[in-house]
Amino acid sequence: MPKYVYSFGSKKTDGRADMKNLLGGKGANLAEMSRLGIPVPAGFTITTDCCNDYFANKARFPKGMKEQVEKALKLVEEEMGMKFGDLANPLLLSSRSGARSSMPGMMETVLNIGLCSKTIPGLIKKTKNERFVYDSYRRLITMYSDVVMEKAEGIEPGEGKGIRVQLDGIMDKLKKSKGYKNDTDLKVEDLKHLCDEYKKRIRKVLGRSFPDEPMKQLWGGIGAVFKSWNGKRAVAYRRIEGIPDDWGTATNVQAMVFGNMGYNSATGVAFTRNPATGDNKFYGEWLPNAQGEDVVAGLRTPNPINEETKNEQNMHLDSLEKAMSKLYRQLYSIQRKIERHYRDMQDIEFTIQEGRLYMLQTRVGKRTGTAALNMAVDMLKERLITEKMAVMRVKPEQLDELLHPIVDPVAEKKAEVLARGLPAGPGGASGQIVFKADDAVEWRKRGKKVILVREETNPEDVAGMRAAEGILTSRGGMTSHAALVARGWGKCCIVGAGMMHVDSVAGKMKVNGKSYREGDIITLNGTKGYVYEGKLGMIDATENPQFQNFMRLVDKYRKLGVRANADTPEDARVARNFGAQGIGLFRTEHMFYGEKSEKPLFLLRQMILSSTLEERKNALGKLYKYVKHDVKATLEAMNGLPVTFRLLDPPLHEFIPQDLEKQRELADSLGISVNEVKKRGEFLHEVNPMMGHRGVRLGITYPEVSEMQVRAIFEAAAGLNKAGKRAFPEIMIPVTCDMNELIEQKKIIDEVYKEVLKKFKIRKINYLLGTMIEIPRACLLADRMAQIAEFFSFGTNDLTQMGFGFSRDDIGEFLGEYLDRRILKADPFQTIDQDGIGQLIDMGVTKGRSTNKNLKVGICGEQGGDPASVKFCNRVGMNYVSCSPYRVPIARLAAAHAAIEEASEGKKTTKNKR
Ligand code: PEP
Ligand code: MG
Repeated sequence: MPKYVYSFGSKKTDGRADMKNLLGGKGANLAEMSRLGIPVPAGFTITTDCCNDYFANKARFPKGMKEQVEKALKLVEEEMGMKFGDLANPLLLSSRSGARSSMPGMMETVLNIGLCSKTIPGLIKKTKNERFVYDSYRRLITMYSDVVMEKAEGIEPGEGKGIRVQLDGIMDKLKKSKGYKNDTDLKVEDLKHLCDEYKKRIRKVLGRSFPDEPMKQLWGGIGAVFKSWNGKRAVAYRRIEGIPDDWGTATNVQAMVFGNMGYNSATGVAFTRNPATGDNKFYGEWLPNAQGEDVVAGLRTPNPINEETKNEQNMHLDSLEKAMSKLYRQLYSIQRKIERHYRDMQDIEFTIQEGRLYMLQTRVGKRTGTAALNMAVDMLKERLITEKMAVMRVKPEQLDELLHPIVDPVAEKKAEVLARGLPAGPGGASGQIVFKADDAVEWRKRGKKVILVREETNPEDVAGMRAAEGILTSRGGMTSHAALVARGWGKCCIVGAGMMHVDSVAGKMKVNGKSYREGDIITLNGTKGYVYEGKLGMIDATENPQFQNFMRLVDKYRKLGVRANADTPEDARVARNFGAQGIGLFRTEHMFYGEKSEKPLFLLRQMILSSTLEERKNALGKLYKYVKHDVKATLEAMNGLPVTFRLLDPPLHEFIPQDLEKQRELADSLGISVNEVKKRGEFLHEVNPMMGHRGVRLGITYPEVSEMQVRAIFEAAAGLNKAGKRAFPEIMIPVTCDMNELIEQKKIIDEVYKEVLKKFKIRKINYLLGTMIEIPRACLLADRMAQIAEFFSFGTNDLTQMGFGFSRDDIGEFLGEYLDRRILKADPFQTIDQDGIGQLIDMGVTKGRSTNKNLKVGICGEQGGDPASVKFCNRVGMNYVSCSPYRVPIARLAAAHAAIEEASEGKKTTKNKR
C-alpha cells in the first residue's frame, strides 16, 4: 500500500525539502524546518499522489489512507500533549493545501477544526478565555461553510451571494448596531450570538447543518482541500501559469497555534528581503491578537514588522520589533537561518501564541522582476549563490517587466496625486476604470486598456487582474491577495489606498469628495503607490545599472547567438542597445509601409503593375536608390555585425492601390488608363495569396526584381567597405521549396557580385547566401538545399501555418476553443509546437548539416523570442535565434538558462557552433 501520510514535528519527521513533488512545497518545507530544529507545530502531510488517487477513485479516499491518518494524528497528539476531540484538553487542527509550486490564494484552508459543542467547554476551562474560543469557533464556521459546504460541493452563488459574504454581512450588521469599529471589539456574547446566527443561515442557505463532530470536520476539511485543486480559480490559475493538472495538491494537517489569544499573541507574514524591490532588509507585516487570515484578507491595515521598513501607510502602527522585541530577535535570527539554508529569499508565516513563537510556513518568495534581478546580483556578491544560480534566479519572462514603461517623472511632477496606497507591483499603467473582473476581461477583448479597481481582490478575480494594465485596491497590505498575485506577474499594482471609497456594485469610486465612474481614465505609479487622474506619459525603464551587470553574466553562460528582427536603421540601433549580435531578419518590403514610405511605395506599385519588362525595369531602376539607402544605413548601424536581408516577399494583393486618386497617379506614371490599372490589379488577385506568387517565386518569374535588390546590397556594402567601415550582409531567399530555386537565384547573385567588384575595384565583399526554411518540403529536402545555402533561417510563422494547415491570419476564430478544450497546449504561433513542427525543424537542421557541416542555422519566426522556443532552438543545435528588439534580453537569458540546464543534465551541446 502506498505511503500516503508523512509526519513532521520535533519527534518524528519523514519528509525533506527535496520531496516537493510528493509533499507539495508547504509540506516539504515544514518537514525541512522541523529537521533544522525550528519551532513548528506538529502535523502531517497527505501526499499529492493521494490527491490524484482520490480523484481517480471518484472523490473517495483511497484504501488504507484512513489508518495512516489516524496513526499520524496520534503522533501529533503525543507531541502537543493534547487530544483531538477530547473534552478536557482538545487539540485543534488546520487543513491546508500545498501544491508543488505555490498558487497563492488559489486553494483552500480550514482552521480551528475540532471545535464543537462538546469540546468548547473544555477549551474555555483550559484557556480561561471564552472570548478567544468563540472567536475561533465563528472563524471555523465561516471557513468551513464556505470551503467545505459550498465550494467543495461545486455550488456557485452569484456575485455577493456566497455564504461567506452572507456571514460577514451578519457580522458587519452587528458591529454597526453596536457601534464597534474592529472585530476585536466584539464581546463574548456577541460572538456566541454570531455563531448561532451563522449556523441558522447555513442551514437555510445550504440546506445542511454545520457538523458538530470533530472527525467529521477533519475529513470534510481534507476532502475540500483536495477538491479545491479542481476549483474554478485554481484551474484558471494553472492555465495562466502553465501548471499541469496532474500534479495534484497535498493536504497539510497541523496542530493549531493561536495568534488570537490576547495581546501577547500575534500572527504575521514576512519576507527575508523586500519582494518588490529586492532590498536586503527583513520585511513584513503582523497583527496583534489575530489569526493568519486577518493579515492577508486585507480587512485591517497590518503593522510593520520593524522600524526600518515602515512606510507612509503604517508609520503610526507599532512594529513587532518595538512591541515584542525579544520575540522579534528570535524571529529575525530564524529568518536569517532559513534564508542561508535555502540560499534564496523566503516568504514565511509565523504565529506567536501567548509569548511563544512558531513558524507555520516557509517557501521561496514570489518577487517582481526588479527584485529578482537585484537579489540575484546581491546574493552573488554576498557569496550566498554561484554565478549560474544567479543567472537561473531570474525568469526570462520577468525581464519583460524591467523593460516595461514607468510613469514619466517629468509628467508626474506636474500632476497632482489623487490617492496614495502601497506600492505592490512596479512600473506604470494607465487605463479606464472597471470595477468588476469580468468587465476587465470583456473590455480588454474589445481592445481597451483598463485598470481594475476593487475594494480588495480575491482569487475569483484572477482572470480580470490578468487582463488589466494595472490593479488598484482600497484595502489590504503588501501581502494581500492583489499584492501577491500582481507581484508574481510583475504587474503594476497599488493596494490599500484607504482614502478611496469603492462601490463596485454601483460602479463608482469616491476620492476626496470627487466621484469617478467606470470608463474614467486614471494612471498608477506602482513603484511609488501613487494614483493620478487622467493619462500620464510613460518612459522606458532600462536604466537599472544592475540590469547591465546581470546581462553580462547571462552572456557568459549562453552559447546560442541572439539577433533581432529589424527593418529600419532605428530598430537596428535599438536592437544593438539590447545586445543583439546582428539582424536575423530585415524584411525588405517593410520599407514600403509606414512613415516616409510614400515614394518607394508608389514605385513598388508601379513595378508590381508593370506588364512589360521595360516598364518593370524602369520602376526598379528608380526604386533602387531607396532600397540601397535603407540597406546601407542598417549595415552602418550594425557596424560589421551580420545583417540578414531577405529578398522581397510581398503579398502582392496588399500593395494594389484601392482608392481612385492613387490609381489615377499610377495610371499617369505608366502612361495607361485607370481602367487598365484596375484590370492589371484584378489580374494579380489570388485565391490563396499566402500560398501564391510571393517570395522566391517572384524572383524566379521576374529575375530583375532579385537583381535590383542584390545590387543594392552589394553596392551598399562595397561603399561602406571602401569608406573604411565594416559591413556583413547576408542575402536570404524566402519561401523556397526546392534546391533548383536556389540554383537559379545564385546565378543572378554571382553575376551581380562580379559586376560590383569590378565597379568598385575591390577583390571581395564578405557575405553569405542563405535561405529561409518555411515550407515543410524544404525541411524534407534540407540536405539538398544546404548544398547551395550557407545558412538556414527557419521561418516558423509560415512553417507553422503550412505544417498545421492553420491560416496565420485567421486562427483567432477557433484557437480560443482549441486551447480551452486542451486540444492544443499552446498557440503554435507564439511558442514552437515542439511535438510536430519541432520535428520538421530538427530534421531540417540534421539533414542540412549532413551535406554542409558548416551550415549556420537560425530562426526568425515570431517564436524566436519565446523562452521555451529559445530552449528548443538551443537543443536542436541552432546557432542563433532572432526576435523583436524588445525581446532580445529575454532571449539572451533564456539561452543562458538552456545552456546551464543542459550542462547540469550532463548533456553536451556539441551541435552548437556559433
Ligand atoms: C516566417 O514565416 O516565419 C517569417 C519570418 O516570415 P514572414 O513572417 O515575413 O512570412
Ligand atoms: Mg514567411
